[in-house]
Amino acid sequence: MPIYVYRCSVKRHGEFDVSMSSYPDEVPKTAPCPVSVYKGDPENGEFDEDVLCNEDSIYVIKPIATAIIEGGTGARSAG
Ligand SMILES: [Zn+2]
Repeated sequence: MPIYVYRCSVKRHGEFDVSMSSYPDEVPKTAPCPVSVYKGDPENGEFDEDVLCNEDSIYVIKPIATAIIEGGTGARSAG
């Protein structure tokens, strides 16, 4: 499953991963930031609201670290 990294323009949110169920023909250049920002009034709980940042975040091109090798040296004991 491919994972792409996006960076929100809000510094505190930083980078986040978006995993896709399949490889897209073209990686979306932006993705909405999933960080929830608190819009409620701390002294007035009734108006609490979970709001997502939803800022258009820019796709960060990361070098591909490694190809995933299936099989490998699975030294886990099967019991
Ligand atoms: Zn954000």
